[in-house]
Amino acid sequence: MATEQPSIEPTKPQTMKAHCPRCDGERTCDVHGSFDQPWEWSDGEHSENGQLDHRLLQCRGCELVFYWQSSWDTQSWDYRYNPTTGEEETVPEYTLQTYPAPEKKSTRPDWAWTLYKTDSTLAQIMDEVYTTSEGRSFILASIGLRTALDRATEMLGIDPALPMAEKVTALHDGGWIGETEAQTLGIVAEAGNAAAHRAFSPDGDDFQHLLSTLEQFISRAILSGKRALEIGPKIPPKQARSSSKANRT
Ligand SMILES: [Zn+2]
Repeated sequence: MATEQPSIEPTKPQTMKAHCPRCDGERTCDVHGSFDQPWEWSDGEHSENGQLDHRLLQCRGCELVFYWQSSWDTQSWDYRYNPTTGEEETVPEYTLQTYPAPEKKSTRPDWAWTLYKTDSTLAQIMDEVYTTSEGRSFILASIGLRTALDRATEMLGIDPALPMAEKVTALHDGGWIGETEAQTLGIVAEAGNAAAHRAFSPDGDDFQHLLSTLEQFISRAILSGKRALEIGPKIPPKQARSSSKANRT
């Protein structure tokens, strides 16, 4: 007798928007598990009911897996006027929570959470820069900035054996950065050098300035530049022209 086979078709993962506790923003999340749990209580005279919605989510930005819960109950009904009918109606007030709870407000740009998709070494260096600077260890964080700049120049094909100042000059000569950015990145390199050899410690404001200089460089030269290079092969080639015209293009 034929028995019914359980479906083994892989189901498309569902997604929902939720507040990711790590990258601390509204993110699209894959739903890996869900369970809705309605409840009711009565003592014969009074009654209450509500529902707990449980989700196991994974952030599509930073890939954190976390637990998300939404709950409501009849004790916390909210009342409002329906703008169409003009009548009072009750709406549930939802309480949202996650485990883990959101981390301290992050100052990292959104791209920092997915940098590992571009380069895992640079992502690890930047992760340590953020972690040490959040702990106000600005000497170590400054050395990290210089190390990150070093890695970024290597990704752009600049000779790793060159001294740091010459790498910055090569970035300028290669058209990756302008005059002003060459000066500010030179300061990032020099601050990292001074931190490593002379225990130079910038204060929080100075460090933020050095960090944002490097962030802008990475965002523009590494991330946007790489995206532009990836688009290049997708552009259809020019139509072949007759030889007389081709010479003029
Ligand atoms: Zn996230």
